[in-house]
Amino acid sequence: MTLSITHLGSGSSGNATLLTTDEAKILIDCGFSGRQLEKRLAMLEISPKELDAILISHHHIDHSRGAAIIQKRWGTPVQANFETCAKLGMDPVNECKIFEPLNRIEFGSDLSILPISVNHDGADNVGFIASHAGERAAIVTDLGSWNDELARHISECVHISIESNYDTKKLWNGPYPERLKQRIAGRGGHLSNRQTAELLSTATGKHTRSIVLCHLSEQNNAPHIAESEVLLEIDELFDGDISISKRDGPEFSHYLGQAEPEKLARI
Ligand SMILES: [Zn+2]
Ligand SMILES: [Zn+2]
Repeated sequence: MTLSITHLGSGSSGNATLLTTDEAKILIDCGFSGRQLEKRLAMLEISPKELDAILISHHHIDHSRGAAIIQKRWGTPVQANFETCAKLGMDPVNECKIFEPLNRIEFGSDLSILPISVNHDGADNVGFIASHAGERAAIVTDLGSWNDELARHISECVHISIESNYDTKKLWNGPYPERLKQRIAGRGGHLSNRQTAELLSTATGKHTRSIVLCHLSEQNNAPHIAESEVLLEIDELFDGDISISKRDGPEFSHYLGQAEPEKLARI
């Protein structure tokens, strides 16, 4: 019994993460077009029609772009909270199943997902905690800020996929308009590398096996900067694997039940 977690891509151009067990295949977010998603799943020899559900964290296009089309084309059930469903223009009875924060969603007997509310920019955003065979994994992005409750959820996880969106210096010295900079750095925007490092320093430990830094800004961040800023805070605390999820995936999988990420052959 294994839960595999595979990022199909991450960043402002699109986010989607595939979770598979013996009994379930679900997608967390669907920020790619139907055609892109089909192509990325095909690299893993999976068809969109095999998906049991697509769970959408919030309505922003980089998380929801392909949801309606995949639902129409392959009949894949889409699940989201009420506000996200409404903002996507999907019918909450026929097109989108509504979930509530902290209400566990079961997929077969070996996967359950707990949506947790998180702060973000004009959106009713949620993070997801997946449970499988007594272990947990967090998939949390687009966090304007973090609090003790989020840290507590994350601290119970052996795998953590979390956003590390921007480097503070790069953002403030960069070309974005002032208002956009303020929005990104505000309580409703994204986590900086520093904020992610601080959160992880309170929420990781020897039990943490893997961390994936996601949703890096192309303009305002760089993989080596994010990784070194986070490692500076947590290097002493955990012995696991740390990696960066890039724009174009799928690149690697992480497993609940196995310690090492496995490289996937690119087609
Ligand atoms: Zn967003
Ligand atoms: Zn996003």
